[in-house]
Amino acid sequence: MNSHEETGRLTDREQARVTVGQCVDCLHARRLTSRKGSDFYRCQKAKQDDRLMDYPPLPVQSCPAFARDPAVVD
Ligand code: SF4
Repeated sequence: MNSHEETGRLTDREQARVTVGQCVDCLHARRLTSRKGSDFYRCQKAKQDDRLMDYPPLPVQSCPAFARDPAVVD
């Protein structure tokens, strides 16, 4: 059990998984931040896959092109 489990609080990544969904952990996603500080997720796979949108509505619950980013560690 880690400290977050002990406190019941979510880590930043866990919280992002709730609000953003699969794009948070996806190799094809690029996070962009507006001047006002809002975050957007751009799907770089959308140009090659007609099923996807450049800026998918969030949260993305189940994406057919999701590819886990190997750099992501829990
Ligand atoms: S492939 Fe799917 S999960 Fe990955 S960035 Fe695009 S929309 Fe998000």
